[in-house]
Amino acid sequence: MRSLPLTPLRPVPTEAAGRPTMPPRHLADLDLAERRTLLAGLGQPAFRAKQVSNHYFGRLVRDPSAMTDLPALARDLITERLLPTLLTPVRESSCDAGATHKALWRLHDGSLVESVLMGYPDRVTVCVSSQAGCGMACPFCATGQAGLTRNLSTAEIVDQVVYLARVAAGGGVTGSPPRLSHVVFMGMGEPLANYGRVLAAIRRLCAPPPEGLGLSQRHLTVSTVGLVPAMRRLAGEDLSVTLALSLHAPDDDLRDELVPVNQRWKVAEVLDAAWEYADRTGRRVSIEYAMIRDVNDQPWRADLLGRLLAGRMAHVNLIPLNPTPGSRWDASAKPVEREFVRRLRAAGVPATVRDTRGREIDGACGQLAAAAVAT
Ligand code: SAH
Repeated sequence: MRSLPLTPLRPVPTEAAGRPTMPPRHLADLDLAERRTLLAGLGQPAFRAKQVSNHYFGRLVRDPSAMTDLPALARDLITERLLPTLLTPVRESSCDAGATHKALWRLHDGSLVESVLMGYPDRVTVCVSSQAGCGMACPFCATGQAGLTRNLSTAEIVDQVVYLARVAAGGGVTGSPPRLSHVVFMGMGEPLANYGRVLAAIRRLCAPPPEGLGLSQRHLTVSTVGLVPAMRRLAGEDLSVTLALSLHAPDDDLRDELVPVNQRWKVAEVLDAAWEYADRTGRRVSIEYAMIRDVNDQPWRADLLGRLLAGRMAHVNLIPLNPTPGSRWDASAKPVEREFVRRLRAAGVPATVRDTRGREIDGACGQLAAAAVAT
């Protein structure tokens, strides 16, 4: 693995940086035709857009100074106009015997975000952030506690993937194939609250090289608290990405508390939108359910969930709660978790318990809280 240019932590980075602002434009914000137009306007030859795109998406080279087949002048121009530095690594850490790798980045305005690379025997997954912070305020999620700083740009999202794809390609994930294959929008932020930029990031990640990274749409998962209009819009995009819905409770009383956006769109509405997504895309929806001890793990809630999902194109992903600092909640006991799974399966609903990765490095679900980490 390459050695990384680690910068020291600054005290109170977000406040010190002043107002959050969107970053300068980057190659990954544009499709190939737009890159061509931009470079032609700068007097560059027609092949330049493809050449630079091949470096970035094909060879995972993010640093223009390493693009040695570019004339020096073109390199300077491209650095300035097409490849500004978006992510500065602040800290990287590994756990799970080298199979999980977390990166904390500083963005151009001082905002901090995190991404996690997870290796499995048959695949490598990146969990990306789509916003700095999150405005959804789910009380059990560390990111939700600090509120929203700003949306990430398309390129800030894509660059997390390209950076970590290179870490994987360099053998950075123990016991896994070197090629990054899966991306989950389950890091910081609510992806559907940053709809346009997330959609463009999906398109870029899936476009064949040199336009994009060439990932399979079926290997991407977008996770949402349940923003119903955006879910319906996504269903109409003619994509085959997986939709994950963070349900966490089958009843409105509890979901109003655990996922506050439920006060706007109720369980019945959000499930309707999920079934529309499944119908239109043919993709099974993943129902995310954090198992919280004595809060949402009762047998009657398993039965109610089973009734809501039976016969639908759904799969339940149970996530043992990762306790976050200051939280009054804990994970369910294992026998309770097993009984929950048993009841769902008895109702004919496929259910699995998610493998918890990255706990020791605060990189597990709901533990990403970069601002708190750095201050
Ligand atoms: N905003 C999106 C995506 C980010 S979170 C969403 O809510 O779906 C990805 C998943 O981790 C969500 O299902 C979220 O509810 C879950 N999660 C958040 N905090 C958690 C915690 N402390 N323990 C377990 N899962 C958590």
